[in-house]
Amino acid sequence: MKHYFVALFLSLSSLGCASLGKSVNFFSLEDDVILGKQADAQLKADARYKFLKPTDKNYDAITRYVNRIKDKLLQANDIPHERQFNYTVQVIDDDVINAFATAGGYVYLYTGIMKFLDNEAQLAGVLAHELAHVARRHGSNQMAVKGITHAILAETLKGKSEAIQALAGIGYQLAMLSYSREDENEADESGALWMSRTDYNPYESQAFFKKIREMKNASNPPEFLSTHPNPDSRVVNIERVLRSLNAKNEGNTYEREYREFKKLLP
Ligand SMILES: [Zn+2]
Repeated sequence: MKHYFVALFLSLSSLGCASLGKSVNFFSLEDDVILGKQADAQLKADARYKFLKPTDKNYDAITRYVNRIKDKLLQANDIPHERQFNYTVQVIDDDVINAFATAGGYVYLYTGIMKFLDNEAQLAGVLAHELAHVARRHGSNQMAVKGITHAILAETLKGKSEAIQALAGIGYQLAMLSYSREDENEADESGALWMSRTDYNPYESQAFFKKIREMKNASNPPEFLSTHPNPDSRVVNIERVLRSLNAKNEGNTYEREYREFKKLLP
């Protein structure tokens, strides 16, 4: 019995890789929104994630600031699925130096990463990267790759809408999954491109990785280093993209505004 399932999984996943490649994602845009919403509700129900709440001090100012950066990126670019996805940035109060995104428009920033960065352009670079994961649908794509047996079996047995319901039940896994190296590179590349069309200095997209690699030898290296590809290669890759775009190493960083913003953080 066990062997049968293993064999089935192998044949389905190799089929997915060989003949479908990246288009293996069978989720619709609406499914992405459902999955993202589900993951968001599950994250909020989990006490380990201390979401900044409307009753918290400076909630409005902090939320407005990060969403204004997101809006600036959206306005300067033709970011995919802007009409279908409600791109929103939420803040989690924790010293973790990281950010993440699920599906359907949900982006999360830890206060830790905001304190770690030095200017607004650097934070915009991080947001551009996370928006790219959402827009390029890396979340549901990974789900499709990892959950393909479940989905195909459920679809066959119950029909598509119920299969999606079952998958929405594992929205939490969507929030927790790590993207592939290929996804990370694509998010870096789209992020750099989108930054180059704003008034921010696009080379600040590299800053996060430059700063993080300085911490490699620290006694307590950030979680990011264990869950993401080598920061050196990412700095090089972003450099390559910006050079190919003839992007100038100039533009606004809004360092002074950012220093004021950081004072608002809990
Ligand atoms: Zn990423």
